[in-house]
Amino acid sequence: MEQDCKTNSSRRKGAIAIIGAGASGCICAYYLLKEGLEVTLFDSGSPLRTLLPTGGGRCNLAHAEYDPKELAKNYPRGEKFLYSVFSRFSTSDTLELFEEMGIKTYTQEDGRIFPESNSAKDVREKILNHIKNVQFVKEKVLKIEKLENGYKLKTSKAEYLFSNVIVAAGGHTGYEILKALDIKIIPPRPSLVGLNSDLHELSGVVIKNALSNNTGLSGDILFTHFGISGPLVYKISSIKAEAEFPYSLSFNLAPELENLQEILNNNPHKELKNILSGFLPKRMASYISGNYAEIKAHQIDGKTRDLILSRIYNFQLTITGINKGEETVTAGGVDLNEVNSKTMESKKYKGLYFIGEILDIDGFCGGFNLQNAWSTAFVAATGVKG
Ligand SMILES: Cc1cc2nc3c(=O)[nH]c(=O)nc-3n(C[C@H](O)[C@H](O)[C@H](O)COP(=O)(O)OP(=O)(O)OC[C@H]3O[C@@H](n4cnc5c(N)ncnc54)[C@H](O)[C@@H]3O)c2cc1C
Repeated sequence: MEQDCKTNSSRRKGAIAIIGAGASGCICAYYLLKEGLEVTLFDSGSPLRTLLPTGGGRCNLAHAEYDPKELAKNYPRGEKFLYSVFSRFSTSDTLELFEEMGIKTYTQEDGRIFPESNSAKDVREKILNHIKNVQFVKEKVLKIEKLENGYKLKTSKAEYLFSNVIVAAGGHTGYEILKALDIKIIPPRPSLVGLNSDLHELSGVVIKNALSNNTGLSGDILFTHFGISGPLVYKISSIKAEAEFPYSLSFNLAPELENLQEILNNNPHKELKNILSGFLPKRMASYISGNYAEIKAHQIDGKTRDLILSRIYNFQLTITGINKGEETVTAGGVDLNEVNSKTMESKKYKGLYFIGEILDIDGFCGGFNLQNAWSTAFVAATGVKG
């Protein structure tokens, strides 16, 4: 891969530009190069650096859901659009792609798929080795201009002409260059992120297998100094990505607790906080029992029992915002009504394509966001050459 394109103001008619050398841009380049096509990849930073922090450095590159329709259900935004995309390129194709690149994978018990090396760095190096023939231009694209027969890309250093342009600029900074083209952008919102709440004194407490009464989802909640985090909270943040703050959430902290009265009856001389510690972390048990913490079980009347039960089954939090800086993906982006799901081509502009997170597509944690990057990259690559 050339690190700098020597040809300022070059005319590259017939050639293909990809804006953004992230997950989707690099895989799209791979498929286009395989067809013998000329590809120029633009990015102001080093290619595929965005892969390095994925999966905590291990790169959770896919999820073991092999049915395209079931797979698409893991995307709060984009589900229907992805039916068609995943019917062309799904989890098994991802595994084949990585196998082709010499990256062996394994599946964890929870369905998440990782490289055997457990190294995002290794995945990055292997992918880059397979796209050595791409022209890499280390420049940020500042403007895309539609010409009669193609597109002019402007960077701070030069102007370039291309017949086809694939926008793979990710979910963070890529939208600006599309505004001039009047492409509809659904306002970006952070997703898969911890949530700020009005309760801070339980920082460090972990509740295993809580039930979110708002969404019906279960999982662990980690109370933090800013609010709540952990896998269940990430999922909720994704589902509620479009909600206005503040909003309230309700959790059942002990879904398996069936009969508190029976436990009280069997332990008449135990203090309430110690009884609750049988199925909740100690600090949560003290918090829930409040003024009744030191009251013995036999002294607790029906009204107090129901009050305690409501605190356990309907634990309320007011969510005031997101924990800035923790977000991993962006909800919102290029309106899917603007894009042909069979080719990823813009419906308004022939020869202009969108792939990856710049689209109004985002999935849950677990390998779904990279799957979107790989799948849309493949579909665009076949769309461009088709
Ligand atoms: C910390 C973290 C961990 C994650 N872990 C996982 C995981 O384990 N599994 C998973 O499935 N997903 C994970 N994700 C999400 C996943 O990384 C992204 O969804 C995926 O990288 C999106 O791919 P992309 O190609 O659309 O964008 P990106 O990979 O973000 O690449 C976009 C590229 O475009 C470039 N660019 C932007 N604007 C311009 C411009 N104007 N000109 C030129 N270049 C431009 C950027 O510099 C960037 O290199 C994680 C995200 C984060 C932040």
